[in-house]
Amino acid sequence: MRSIPFGKPIIGDAERQAVMAVLAGSTLVHGPLAKKFEEVFADFTAAPHAVSVASCTAAMHLVYFHLGFGPGDEVVVPAQTHTATAHAVELVGAKPVFVDCEAGTGNIDVAAVAAAITPRTRAIAVVHYLGVPVDMAAITALARQHGLFVLEDCALAIGTRLDGIHAGLHGDVGCFSFYPVKHMTTAEGGMIICRDPQLAAQLQRKKAFGVDRTVGERTVPGMYDVTMLGFNYRMNEIEAAIGIEQVGRLPDMLERRRANSAVLRDGLRGVAGIGLLEDGPAGGESSHYCLSAILDDSLAARRLSIIKHLNAAGIGTSIYYPRPVPLMSYYRGKYGFNEGDFPQAERISNNSIALPVGPHLDEEDMAYIANAMADAVKESK
Ligand SMILES: *Cc1c(COP(=O)(O)O)cnc(C)c1O
Repeated sequence: MRSIPFGKPIIGDAERQAVMAVLAGSTLVHGPLAKKFEEVFADFTAAPHAVSVASCTAAMHLVYFHLGFGPGDEVVVPAQTHTATAHAVELVGAKPVFVDCEAGTGNIDVAAVAAAITPRTRAIAVVHYLGVPVDMAAITALARQHGLFVLEDCALAIGTRLDGIHAGLHGDVGCFSFYPVKHMTTAEGGMIICRDPQLAAQLQRKKAFGVDRTVGERTVPGMYDVTMLGFNYRMNEIEAAIGIEQVGRLPDMLERRRANSAVLRDGLRGVAGIGLLEDGPAGGESSHYCLSAILDDSLAARRLSIIKHLNAAGIGTSIYYPRPVPLMSYYRGKYGFNEGDFPQAERISNNSIALPVGPHLDEEDMAYIANAMADAVKESK
Protein backbone atom coordinates (compact mmCIF):
# COMPACT_ATOMS: atom_id res chain seq x y z
CA MET A 1 0.00 0.00 0.00
CA ARG A 2 1.20 3.51 -0.79
CA SER A 3 1.14 6.45 1.57
CA ILE A 4 -0.15 9.48 -0.30
CA PRO A 5 -0.78 12.48 1.95
CA PHE A 6 -3.11 15.12 0.50
CA GLY A 7 -0.55 17.85 1.06
CA LYS A 8 3.03 17.89 2.26
CA PRO A 9 5.41 20.85 2.25
CA ILE A 10 8.72 20.31 0.44
CA ILE A 11 11.28 21.44 3.00
CA GLY A 12 14.93 20.59 2.36
CA ASP A 13 18.44 21.40 3.56
CA ALA A 14 18.31 24.81 1.88
CA GLU A 15 15.34 25.87 4.03
CA ARG A 16 16.86 24.36 7.19
CA GLN A 17 20.17 26.13 6.65
CA ALA A 18 18.48 29.42 5.85
CA VAL A 19 16.47 29.25 9.09
CA MET A 20 19.55 28.34 11.14
CA ALA A 21 21.42 31.30 9.65
CA VAL A 22 18.64 33.64 10.84
CA LEU A 23 18.70 32.11 14.31
CA ALA A 24 22.49 32.46 14.44
CA GLY A 25 22.07 36.23 14.15
CA SER A 26 19.93 38.65 16.12
CA THR A 27 17.74 40.17 13.40
CA LEU A 28 14.44 38.30 13.62
CA VAL A 29 12.16 41.04 12.27
CA HIS A 30 12.79 44.21 10.20
CA GLY A 31 15.74 42.58 8.44
CA PRO A 32 16.91 42.19 4.87
CA LEU A 33 15.22 38.81 4.22
CA ALA A 34 11.60 40.02 4.17
CA LYS A 35 12.73 42.62 1.58
CA LYS A 36 14.64 40.00 -0.42
CA PHE A 37 11.63 37.66 -0.33
CA GLU A 38 9.45 40.48 -1.68
CA GLU A 39 11.97 40.96 -4.51
CA VAL A 40 12.19 37.31 -5.53
CA PHE A 41 8.41 36.89 -5.33
CA ALA A 42 7.95 40.03 -7.43
CA ASP A 43 10.44 38.59 -9.93
CA PHE A 44 8.61 35.28 -10.13
CA THR A 45 5.22 36.90 -10.73
CA ALA A 46 6.62 39.89 -12.70
CA ALA A 47 4.85 42.14 -10.20
CA PRO A 48 5.95 45.79 -9.98
CA HIS A 49 5.48 45.72 -6.16
CA ALA A 50 5.23 43.06 -3.46
CA VAL A 51 4.41 43.50 0.23
CA SER A 52 5.12 40.60 2.61
CA VAL A 53 2.53 40.02 5.34
CA ALA A 54 1.61 37.54 8.07
CA SER A 55 -0.99 35.57 6.07
CA CYS A 56 -3.38 35.82 3.14
CA THR A 57 -6.19 36.67 5.57
CA ALA A 58 -4.06 39.51 6.97
CA ALA A 59 -3.37 40.63 3.39
CA MET A 60 -7.05 40.92 2.49
CA HIS A 61 -8.01 42.54 5.81
CA LEU A 62 -5.19 45.07 5.40
CA VAL A 63 -6.34 45.98 1.87
CA TYR A 64 -9.98 46.58 2.87
CA PHE A 65 -8.84 48.48 5.97
CA HIS A 66 -6.60 50.66 3.81
CA LEU A 67 -9.49 51.35 1.41
CA GLY A 68 -11.58 52.52 4.37
CA PHE A 69 -14.42 50.06 3.78
CA GLY A 70 -16.90 49.84 6.63
CA PRO A 71 -20.58 49.63 7.54
CA GLY A 72 -22.83 50.34 4.54
CA ASP A 73 -20.24 49.13 2.02
CA GLU A 74 -20.61 45.91 0.05
CA VAL A 75 -18.03 43.62 -1.51
CA VAL A 76 -19.09 40.97 -4.01
CA VAL A 77 -17.47 37.65 -3.02
CA PRO A 78 -17.72 34.08 -4.31
CA ALA A 79 -19.83 31.61 -2.32
CA GLN A 80 -17.44 28.77 -3.19
CA THR A 81 -14.24 29.76 -1.39
CA HIS A 82 -12.30 29.66 1.88
CA THR A 83 -14.04 31.54 4.65
CA ALA A 84 -11.14 34.04 4.78
CA THR A 85 -12.34 35.68 1.54
CA ALA A 86 -15.58 36.69 3.26
CA HIS A 87 -14.16 37.17 6.78
CA ALA A 88 -11.81 39.89 5.50
CA VAL A 89 -14.88 41.89 4.43
CA GLU A 90 -16.77 41.23 7.69
CA LEU A 91 -13.74 42.22 9.75
CA VAL A 92 -13.93 45.83 8.52
CA GLY A 93 -17.68 45.94 9.11
CA ALA A 94 -18.63 45.80 5.42
CA LYS A 95 -21.05 43.27 3.95
CA PRO A 96 -19.98 40.33 1.76
CA VAL A 97 -22.51 39.82 -1.04
CA PHE A 98 -22.20 36.17 -2.03
CA VAL A 99 -22.41 35.04 -5.64
CA ASP A 100 -22.76 31.47 -6.93
CA CYS A 101 -20.11 29.82 -9.12
CA GLU A 102 -20.03 28.35 -12.62
CA ALA A 103 -20.61 24.60 -12.76
CA GLY A 104 -17.66 23.96 -15.07
CA THR A 105 -14.78 25.58 -13.17
CA GLY A 106 -16.12 26.44 -9.72
CA ASN A 107 -15.08 30.05 -10.37
CA ILE A 108 -17.36 32.99 -9.63
CA ASP A 109 -20.19 33.40 -12.16
CA VAL A 110 -19.50 36.70 -13.92
CA ALA A 111 -23.12 37.26 -14.99
CA ALA A 112 -24.18 36.80 -11.37
CA VAL A 113 -21.50 39.30 -10.26
CA ALA A 114 -23.03 41.90 -12.58
CA ALA A 115 -26.46 41.23 -11.09
CA ALA A 116 -25.14 41.58 -7.51
CA ILE A 117 -23.73 45.10 -7.98
CA THR A 118 -25.65 47.83 -6.13
CA PRO A 119 -24.97 51.51 -5.41
CA ARG A 120 -23.27 50.35 -2.17
CA THR A 121 -20.81 48.00 -3.91
CA ARG A 122 -17.18 49.11 -3.45
CA ALA A 123 -15.22 46.09 -4.66
CA ILE A 124 -15.29 42.69 -6.32
CA ALA A 125 -13.26 39.86 -4.75
CA VAL A 126 -12.50 36.84 -6.91
CA VAL A 127 -10.84 33.55 -6.07
CA HIS A 128 -8.94 31.55 -8.67
CA TYR A 129 -10.66 28.41 -7.47
CA LEU A 130 -8.17 25.53 -7.06
CA GLY A 131 -5.78 27.55 -9.22
CA VAL A 132 -7.98 27.87 -12.31
CA PRO A 133 -7.92 31.45 -13.59
CA VAL A 134 -11.10 33.53 -13.39
CA ASP A 135 -12.10 35.37 -16.58
CA MET A 136 -10.43 38.57 -15.42
CA ALA A 137 -11.17 40.57 -18.58
CA ALA A 138 -14.88 40.27 -17.83
CA ILE A 139 -14.38 41.13 -14.13
CA THR A 140 -12.18 44.17 -14.76
CA ALA A 141 -14.59 45.44 -17.44
CA LEU A 142 -17.42 45.33 -14.89
CA ALA A 143 -15.20 47.00 -12.29
CA ARG A 144 -14.29 49.84 -14.66
CA GLN A 145 -17.91 50.35 -15.61
CA HIS A 146 -18.98 50.71 -11.95
CA GLY A 147 -15.78 52.22 -10.50
CA LEU A 148 -14.99 49.22 -8.28
CA PHE A 149 -11.77 47.91 -6.74
CA VAL A 150 -10.78 44.33 -7.69
CA LEU A 151 -9.10 42.03 -5.14
CA GLU A 152 -7.79 38.68 -6.38
CA ASP A 153 -7.58 36.02 -3.66
CA CYS A 154 -4.60 34.11 -5.05
CA ALA A 155 -4.16 31.75 -2.09
CA LEU A 156 -4.28 28.79 -4.48
CA ALA A 157 -2.96 30.62 -7.52
CA ILE A 158 0.83 30.72 -7.42
CA GLY A 159 1.70 29.86 -11.01
CA THR A 160 -1.77 30.74 -12.33
CA ARG A 161 -1.53 32.88 -15.43
CA LEU A 162 -3.97 34.36 -17.88
CA ASP A 163 -2.69 35.57 -21.26
CA GLY A 164 0.80 35.22 -19.80
CA ILE A 165 0.09 37.58 -16.88
CA HIS A 166 0.30 36.16 -13.37
CA ALA A 167 -2.81 36.02 -11.19
CA GLY A 168 -3.00 39.04 -8.92
CA LEU A 169 -1.93 41.54 -11.59
CA HIS A 170 -5.22 41.68 -13.51
CA GLY A 171 -7.16 43.39 -10.73
CA ASP A 172 -5.88 46.01 -8.28
CA VAL A 173 -4.22 43.62 -5.80
CA GLY A 174 -3.39 39.92 -5.54
CA CYS A 175 -3.22 38.27 -2.10
CA PHE A 176 -1.21 35.05 -1.64
CA SER A 177 -0.93 32.44 1.13
CA PHE A 178 2.10 30.44 2.24
CA TYR A 179 0.20 28.12 4.59
CA PRO A 180 1.83 24.64 4.63
CA VAL A 181 -0.39 22.84 2.10
CA LYS A 182 -0.43 25.66 -0.49
CA HIS A 183 1.93 25.73 -3.50
CA MET A 184 4.84 26.94 -1.38
CA THR A 185 5.12 27.62 2.33
CA THR A 186 6.68 29.83 4.97
CA ALA A 187 4.70 27.97 7.71
CA GLU A 188 2.35 30.96 8.00
CA GLY A 189 2.73 33.90 5.69
CA GLY A 190 1.31 35.93 2.85
CA MET A 191 2.13 38.42 0.11
CA ILE A 192 0.31 41.23 -1.65
CA ILE A 193 1.29 42.16 -5.21
CA CYS A 194 0.12 45.24 -7.09
CA ARG A 195 1.02 47.72 -9.82
CA ASP A 196 0.39 50.96 -7.92
CA PRO A 197 3.53 52.20 -6.07
CA GLN A 198 1.47 54.45 -3.74
CA LEU A 199 -0.77 51.58 -2.77
CA ALA A 200 2.24 49.35 -2.05
CA ALA A 201 3.87 52.07 0.07
CA GLN A 202 0.69 52.63 2.09
CA LEU A 203 0.25 48.91 2.69
CA GLN A 204 3.90 48.67 3.85
CA ARG A 205 3.21 51.38 6.44
CA LYS A 206 -0.16 50.07 7.56
CA LYS A 207 1.11 46.52 8.05
CA ALA A 208 3.53 47.99 10.65
CA PHE A 209 1.52 50.23 13.00
CA GLY A 210 1.35 53.15 10.56
CA VAL A 211 4.79 54.42 11.60
CA ASP A 212 6.37 56.91 9.24
CA ARG A 213 9.73 55.16 8.77
CA THR A 214 11.02 51.58 8.98
CA VAL A 215 13.78 50.59 11.39
CA GLY A 216 16.27 50.85 8.50
CA GLU A 217 15.13 54.38 7.65
CA ARG A 218 15.59 55.81 11.16
CA THR A 219 18.58 58.14 11.51
CA VAL A 220 18.25 58.11 15.30
CA PRO A 221 17.41 54.63 16.64
CA GLY A 222 14.01 54.50 18.27
CA MET A 223 12.92 57.83 16.77
CA TYR A 224 9.75 57.71 14.68
CA ASP A 225 6.28 59.20 14.34
CA VAL A 226 2.92 57.48 13.81
CA THR A 227 0.98 59.08 11.00
CA MET A 228 -1.87 56.63 10.55
CA LEU A 229 -3.64 53.65 12.09
CA GLY A 230 -2.14 50.25 11.34
CA PHE A 231 -1.71 46.61 12.33
CA ASN A 232 1.22 44.41 13.16
CA TYR A 233 0.87 42.18 10.10
CA ARG A 234 4.59 41.87 9.27
CA MET A 235 6.34 38.70 8.12
CA ASN A 236 9.37 37.75 10.23
CA GLU A 237 12.87 36.88 9.00
CA ILE A 238 12.54 33.15 9.73
CA GLU A 239 9.47 32.90 7.49
CA ALA A 240 11.06 35.07 4.81
CA ALA A 241 14.23 32.92 4.81
CA ILE A 242 12.10 29.85 4.09
CA GLY A 243 10.13 31.74 1.45
CA ILE A 244 13.21 32.77 -0.52
CA GLU A 245 14.28 29.13 -0.84
CA GLN A 246 10.75 28.03 -1.70
CA VAL A 247 10.49 30.50 -4.59
CA GLY A 248 13.59 28.83 -6.03
CA ARG A 249 11.76 25.51 -5.98
CA LEU A 250 8.57 26.86 -7.59
CA PRO A 251 9.32 26.04 -11.25
CA ASP A 252 9.99 22.36 -10.40
CA MET A 253 7.13 22.10 -7.92
CA LEU A 254 4.64 23.63 -10.37
CA GLU A 255 5.80 21.40 -13.23
CA ARG A 256 5.33 18.33 -10.99
CA ARG A 257 1.77 19.46 -10.21
CA ARG A 258 1.01 20.00 -13.89
CA ALA A 259 2.36 16.58 -14.91
CA ASN A 260 0.63 14.78 -12.01
CA SER A 261 -2.64 16.48 -12.74
CA ALA A 262 -2.49 15.49 -16.43
CA VAL A 263 -1.83 11.84 -15.57
CA LEU A 264 -4.58 11.69 -12.95
CA ARG A 265 -7.04 13.43 -15.28
CA ASP A 266 -6.34 10.76 -17.92
CA GLY A 267 -6.61 7.95 -15.40
CA LEU A 268 -9.96 9.14 -14.07
CA ARG A 269 -11.50 9.70 -17.49
CA GLY A 270 -12.57 6.07 -17.70
CA VAL A 271 -14.20 5.92 -14.26
CA ALA A 272 -17.98 5.91 -14.68
CA GLY A 273 -20.01 8.26 -12.51
CA ILE A 274 -17.43 10.98 -11.94
CA GLY A 275 -16.74 14.24 -13.71
CA LEU A 276 -13.80 16.64 -13.39
CA LEU A 277 -13.75 20.41 -13.19
CA GLU A 278 -12.39 22.18 -16.26
CA ASP A 279 -8.87 23.57 -16.37
CA GLY A 280 -10.17 27.04 -17.18
CA PRO A 281 -10.47 29.44 -20.11
CA ALA A 282 -8.36 29.48 -23.27
CA GLY A 283 -5.15 31.39 -22.67
CA GLY A 284 -5.22 30.37 -19.01
CA GLU A 285 -2.69 28.32 -17.06
CA SER A 286 -3.85 26.62 -13.86
CA SER A 287 -1.59 26.18 -10.84
CA HIS A 288 -3.15 22.71 -10.34
CA TYR A 289 -3.78 22.90 -6.63
CA CYS A 290 -5.61 19.55 -6.63
CA LEU A 291 -7.94 17.57 -8.87
CA SER A 292 -11.55 17.62 -7.70
CA ALA A 293 -13.64 14.64 -8.76
CA ILE A 294 -17.30 15.62 -8.95
CA LEU A 295 -19.53 12.61 -8.31
CA ASP A 296 -22.65 12.30 -10.42
CA ASP A 297 -25.79 12.91 -8.37
CA SER A 298 -26.49 9.15 -8.46
CA LEU A 299 -23.16 8.49 -6.68
CA ALA A 300 -23.18 11.47 -4.30
CA ALA A 301 -24.95 9.63 -1.48
CA ARG A 302 -22.00 7.23 -1.46
CA ARG A 303 -19.34 9.95 -1.16
CA LEU A 304 -18.40 9.14 2.42
CA SER A 305 -17.99 5.46 1.62
CA ILE A 306 -15.82 6.32 -1.42
CA ILE A 307 -13.67 8.66 0.69
CA LYS A 308 -13.24 5.93 3.34
CA HIS A 309 -12.20 3.47 0.66
CA LEU A 310 -9.59 5.90 -0.70
CA ASN A 311 -8.30 6.75 2.79
CA ALA A 312 -8.03 3.03 3.60
CA ALA A 313 -5.88 2.65 0.47
CA GLY A 314 -3.49 5.23 1.95
CA ILE A 315 -4.74 8.16 -0.14
CA GLY A 316 -5.28 11.48 1.61
CA THR A 317 -8.31 13.38 0.33
CA SER A 318 -9.95 16.68 1.13
CA ILE A 319 -13.05 18.70 0.22
CA TYR A 320 -12.83 22.21 -1.25
CA TYR A 321 -14.85 23.57 0.37
CA PRO A 322 -17.03 21.55 2.75
CA ARG A 323 -19.88 24.09 2.48
CA PRO A 324 -20.30 27.29 0.50
CA VAL A 325 -19.27 30.09 2.89
CA PRO A 326 -22.80 31.61 3.14
CA LEU A 327 -24.03 28.23 4.45
CA MET A 328 -21.43 28.14 7.24
CA SER A 329 -23.22 28.70 10.57
CA TYR A 330 -21.83 32.20 11.15
CA TYR A 331 -23.02 33.59 7.79
CA ARG A 332 -26.21 31.59 7.75
CA GLY A 333 -27.09 32.87 11.20
CA LYS A 334 -26.21 36.48 10.39
CA TYR A 335 -27.76 36.77 6.92
CA GLY A 336 -30.37 33.97 6.89
CA PHE A 337 -29.19 31.95 3.90
CA ASN A 338 -30.78 28.60 3.10
CA GLU A 339 -29.91 25.42 1.28
CA GLY A 340 -30.63 25.93 -2.41
CA ASP A 341 -29.51 29.58 -2.46
CA PHE A 342 -26.19 28.71 -4.17
CA PRO A 343 -26.96 25.55 -6.16
CA GLN A 344 -23.70 25.28 -8.14
CA ALA A 345 -21.46 25.93 -5.13
CA GLU A 346 -23.54 23.49 -3.09
CA ARG A 347 -23.22 20.80 -5.72
CA ILE A 348 -19.42 21.12 -5.64
CA SER A 349 -19.40 21.08 -1.82
CA ASN A 350 -21.73 18.08 -1.63
CA ASN A 351 -20.47 15.96 -4.53
CA SER A 352 -16.73 16.57 -4.75
CA ILE A 353 -13.67 14.74 -3.51
CA ALA A 354 -10.37 16.62 -3.81
CA LEU A 355 -7.49 14.39 -4.85
CA PRO A 356 -3.81 15.25 -4.34
CA VAL A 357 -1.44 16.14 -7.20
CA GLY A 358 1.26 17.91 -5.14
CA PRO A 359 5.01 17.89 -5.79
CA HIS A 360 5.53 15.25 -3.06
CA LEU A 361 3.88 12.76 -5.46
CA ASP A 362 4.81 11.16 -8.79
CA GLU A 363 3.05 9.67 -11.80
CA GLU A 364 2.93 6.19 -10.26
CA ASP A 365 1.05 7.67 -7.31
CA MET A 366 -1.40 9.16 -9.81
CA ALA A 367 -2.00 5.78 -11.48
CA TYR A 368 -2.51 4.27 -8.01
CA ILE A 369 -5.10 6.96 -7.13
CA ALA A 370 -6.99 6.44 -10.41
CA ASN A 371 -7.15 2.67 -9.81
CA ALA A 372 -8.24 3.13 -6.22
CA MET A 373 -10.96 5.53 -7.36
CA ALA A 374 -12.29 2.99 -9.87
CA ASP A 375 -12.37 0.33 -7.12
CA ALA A 376 -13.93 2.71 -4.61
CA VAL A 377 -16.76 3.61 -6.99
CA LYS A 378 -17.41 -0.10 -7.73
CA GLU A 379 -17.25 -1.26 -4.13
CA SER A 380 -18.89 1.63 -2.31
CA LYS A 381 -22.42 1.13 -1.04
C1 LIG B 1 -5.95 29.10 2.38
C2 LIG B 1 -6.79 30.15 1.81
C3 LIG B 1 -6.90 31.41 2.42
C4 LIG B 1 -6.29 31.72 3.76
O1 LIG B 1 -4.90 31.84 3.71
P1 LIG B 1 -4.08 32.11 5.07
O2 LIG B 1 -2.69 32.40 4.60
O3 LIG B 1 -4.16 30.84 5.87
O4 LIG B 1 -4.70 33.26 5.76
C5 LIG B 1 -7.64 32.38 1.78
N1 LIG B 1 -8.27 32.14 0.62
C6 LIG B 1 -8.21 30.94 0.01
C7 LIG B 1 -8.92 30.74 -1.29
C8 LIG B 1 -7.49 29.90 0.60
O5 LIG B 1 -7.47 28.69 0.01
